[in-house]
Amino acid sequence: MATELRQLYLSEMQEQRSAEEQLVQALPKMSEMARETGLAEAFQEHLRETRGHLDRLDGLLSAHGVEPRAHSDGSMTALITESEKWAKAIDDHEARDAGLISSAQRIEHYEIAVYGTLATWAKQLGLNDDMEVLLGILDEEKTANDKLSHIAKADANPRAAH
Ligand code: ZN
Ligand code: FE
Repeated sequence: MATELRQLYLSEMQEQRSAEEQLVQALPKMSEMARETGLAEAFQEHLRETRGHLDRLDGLLSAHGVEPRAHSDGSMTALITESEKWAKAIDDHEARDAGLISSAQRIEHYEIAVYGTLATWAKQLGLNDDMEVLLGILDEEKTANDKLSHIAKADANPRAAH
């Protein structure tokens, strides 16, 4: 039923709005923990993008007349808690950068999965303007993930292996 998919779509978007809000809190801490300037800057840059994602989801949710803060995303809470636990457990700065990237990429992959689903559902529901917004965010998440892969291979992993 279209109404049920629509319900699911809006709930999933509310969850993702909560995920982005949690990331706005978490990314500055990840940036502070990063040793290498390039990694710290990548986290800062993605923080700016993440604020934009939050704004865009708020815009979509209010356009649909639903309360943006209705759901909180426990999966993202768990991903962030684990990443902080790991980062604190690693004493070696070089290894910690590699670990931070690993945690951040889990988070990006999670977001890529959610935005892929949301964009597909928007299309199915005939919400083409929503779909465009969601695909735009999806692109930024993918780019952020690719940047992290690059930093890991070119810089963080070789240094951690020393
Ligand atoms: Zn995002
Ligand atoms: Fe992200």
